[in-house]
Amino acid sequence: MKRLAILGSTGSIGTQALEVVAAHPELFEVEVLTAHSNADLLIKQARRFTPNAVVITDESKYETVRSAIKDIPVKVFTGASALNDLVQWDTVDMVLGAILGFAGLSSILSAIDAGKQIALANKETLVVAGELVMQRATQKKVHIIPVDSEHSAIFQCLVGENLDKIEKIILTASGGPFLGRKQNFLVNVKASHALQHPNWNMGAKISIDSATLMNKGLEIIEAKWLFGLENNQVEVVIHPQSIIHSMVQFVDGSIKAQMGVPDMKLPIQYALAFPHRINNNFKRFSFKEVSKLSFEEPDMKTFRNLALAREALNLGGNAPCILNAANEVVVHAFLQNKAGFLEMSDMIEKTMAKVAPIAQPTLEDYLQSDREARIYAAEFVKKSQLSIY
Ligand code: NAD
Ligand code: MG
Repeated sequence: MKRLAILGSTGSIGTQALEVVAAHPELFEVEVLTAHSNADLLIKQARRFTPNAVVITDESKYETVRSAIKDIPVKVFTGASALNDLVQWDTVDMVLGAILGFAGLSSILSAIDAGKQIALANKETLVVAGELVMQRATQKKVHIIPVDSEHSAIFQCLVGENLDKIEKIILTASGGPFLGRKQNFLVNVKASHALQHPNWNMGAKISIDSATLMNKGLEIIEAKWLFGLENNQVEVVIHPQSIIHSMVQFVDGSIKAQMGVPDMKLPIQYALAFPHRINNNFKRFSFKEVSKLSFEEPDMKTFRNLALAREALNLGGNAPCILNAANEVVVHAFLQNKAGFLEMSDMIEKTMAKVAPIAQPTLEDYLQSDREARIYAAEFVKKSQLSIY
């Protein structure tokens, strides 16, 4: 029995993780569930899974949750710091990090410090502080099992291999809903359109990141830290069918790929069950249904976020943290129709130029750079023609 703390249980990854758990009651037990503000769903999940405890980080929702489940033996906590405490409980074996954005960093560090196994969906944690997170994980002998589908693919390709025999890894990208589009089209796109991803059904923020290719930029940085690679060992190829989830090329030129229909439940299940591979009844890939797999170069001139992420990676230090913070702010604004699609890249670039670089940031430096970048990015959003300010 693996006892799980699922951080961000009401989100896209969190709810799918609970589907995996429900299908394997002999393997998994839910110990902790957490949500930011979706009290209704957290209450339903608490009744369905009766965890030891739940956290609703938004304090204004605490009373709603507490009174709704006072008849069942589930402890209720609130506030962000509760996350850091609960992940360290003795009764937790594995922590699934499925909180969105920078907000997920602190609880993952806390879980690592307590020596918990980590299944990591929250890529921003590694984008912001990958070096620090991986160092601490090594010190504590904690395995970080990726949930992100590309990184799960690479992880699966690397089972039984030596990391120093990797020549490069090739991240596949669907290209998102605007593959092949140019500036004249993109300048007018709205959130409702950008949210229509062709292959994956995901949370709002990552859907926008997929449309701008920032998601792939963040994933390059995530891969570098997870697998201990040089910056130039991570490549991206557009593969619109999303059947090959990523590939590893070894020093002898051999390439391994992991394939399957796009369904996040598979990498979630793989990470939760690791080191075991367990059965399921998910849809299987059929070579009869898909006759062609195609590949092309990403258009980094149109989708500038990918180039900006690469630049942040090469700059190193706090640059990826600044990139991430600016991106979180501008995506939030875009979702509210307060920033244009192409403007997002301009605002991220300008924010990166504003915040002072730090070559060897401490955790406190990351927190400070994140705060500063958010302030600058918000100012750029206010100046947007779309902004109501
Ligand atoms: P989502 O928006 O659907 O869910 C986010 C979850 O985090 C919710 O439970 C929410 O309550 C919680 N949350 C949000 N802000 C919080 C805060 N400030 N404090 C505490 N909790 C907070 O997001 P998602 O699509 O499930 O993505 C979660 C993470 O997984 C992201 O980092 C994303 O990049 C990564 N990821 C998602 C997918 C996917 O298919 N959705 C795929 C790969 C990676
Ligand atoms: Mg991914």
